[in-house]
Amino acid sequence: MLSLIEIKKYEVTHIEEPVTGVKIFRLTPLDGVIPKFISGQSVFLHIIDGDGSTIEKKPYSIASGPDKRYLEFCIKMVNGKVTGKLELVKLGDTVGLEAPKGRFVYNEEKNAAFIGGGTGIAPFMSMLRFINNKKIDGSFVVFYSVKTKDDILYGQELEEMSQSNPNIKVVITTTKDSVGWSGEQGRVNSSMIRKYIDSTSSFDWWICGPLPMVKDMRAALEETGADLKKLHVEAWG
Ligand SMILES: Cc1cc2nc3c(=O)[nH]c(=O)nc-3n(C[C@H](O)[C@H](O)[C@H](O)COP(=O)(O)OP(=O)(O)OC[C@H]3O[C@@H](n4cnc5c(N)ncnc54)[C@H](O)[C@@H]3O)c2cc1C
Repeated sequence: MLSLIEIKKYEVTHIEEPVTGVKIFRLTPLDGVIPKFISGQSVFLHIIDGDGSTIEKKPYSIASGPDKRYLEFCIKMVNGKVTGKLELVKLGDTVGLEAPKGRFVYNEEKNAAFIGGGTGIAPFMSMLRFINNKKIDGSFVVFYSVKTKDDILYGQELEEMSQSNPNIKVVITTTKDSVGWSGEQGRVNSSMIRKYIDSTSSFDWWICGPLPMVKDMRAALEETGADLKKLHVEAWG
């Protein structure tokens, strides 16, 4: 039977491990054509064999902005069906990607706040890169939770963005050690949110991460008086 899903081939053109156990991959389409996508969307990544047949597949959020000639992904290596195979992927290898999809998107809302933990920063990097490059006017706040300061992904870029763009505020909080860390500590909660945003109801909110975290953040936002009709959620399982 013919498959209706188009799987486009991409070359792995960049691999780095900025934090132990997390890899950033950049994938460049063999035909040179980056698919249209809206920041926040994800794609199914296919591990393919020599014939182009799928061995395993899983969805991953696009971390790059729409202006790049590659798609970037930030993936936690958990030695699972797909990540176990991605661990072995080398520069020059070929993987397959379906077309970007999903309703977890940033559509140029003026007051936008993002809550994510660990690799949950991935879709927000795409959104922030888009916001920053397009010089969108508004107020943008990222609440980014990591275990320790050594687990911060995209730390330098986030710092540079917030330094150069007064509209972007980055709040990083560490949930474990605090040695040498002068930023926020503990999980994101309603008082932390209120500390940085007076009028939570005037913001659209995006939450990305595991389901329990998404539920906790939804409850925290409700406590702050945020408008849950303006809540966008991506639960990773
Ligand atoms: C829309 C969407 C976008 C996603 N985007 C990203 C992304 O940008 N980056 C990313 O890293 N993941 C992302 N995920 C999760 C991703 O799709 C996979 O579920 C994940 O990579 C594990 O796949 P696997 O086949 O390697 O592991 P599996 O074989 O499915 O699982 C192996 C084991 O690892 C455990 N496990 C799975 N995920 C984690 C985790 N995060 N931490 C600890 N243990 C885990 C499972 O419970 C299981 O025990 C996204 C999920 C969705 C639904």
